[in-house]
Amino acid sequence: MRLIDAALDLLLGASCHGCERPGASPCPECRALLRPCPQQVAQSAQVGCPVVAAMRYEPPVSSFIIAHKDRQAWQLRGVLGGLLLDTLRALPTAELLVPVPSTPSAERERGYDHTRALAAYCAARLHIPVKRVLTSRSGVDHAKLTAAERADEVRGRFSARPGWGRVIVVDDVITTGATAAECVRTLRAAGYTVSGVVAVAATPAPGGNAAPGCDQLR
Ligand SMILES: [Zn+2]
Repeated sequence: MRLIDAALDLLLGASCHGCERPGASPCPECRALLRPCPQQVAQSAQVGCPVVAAMRYEPPVSSFIIAHKDRQAWQLRGVLGGLLLDTLRALPTAELLVPVPSTPSAERERGYDHTRALAAYCAARLHIPVKRVLTSRSGVDHAKLTAAERADEVRGRFSARPGWGRVIVVDDVITTGATAAECVRTLRAAGYTVSGVVAVAATPAPGGNAAPGCDQLR
């Protein structure tokens, strides 16, 4: 399905992944909506450290994140990486960026490590290294799981190379926080100090305070 989407993009010509207008992606209208407002989100409580996201997970940023991850729109790396970079600059510096790894099968299918690509974009500009400290065993698609099922499924999924130093975990989207929590737990067990987790976007947490939204700040 993903290859078909990419083939359609080629066949029909370029269009904005946010609003499907023909032309550049993002189009000027969507680009104007991609303004980061880094905020700590309610999922921080579950994750056990500050979790900061650039934006609320809603259109159009959600469409760009999906296109970058699943529709081979790898040219969006700079747009999404820029949102992440502004978010990282709002946090104390770390010695290392650690991307949340995809499952081996998902990465093979995509042919691209979308989270590492975003982390590398930021790392180059912040002059700190990015390393694949975490690896993931195979897992199942979380889309149809409840929050409790996600937390259960992800437990023990990751392993980390032992090390030390202050690290920031990088992800594209925070939903329940279960994956980020397991990454943080695994890194701490391997000897690292986790300063925080950053993401391009976060969904509103059930029962929590609002996920980041620029409209709250303007
Ligand atoms: Zn657009």
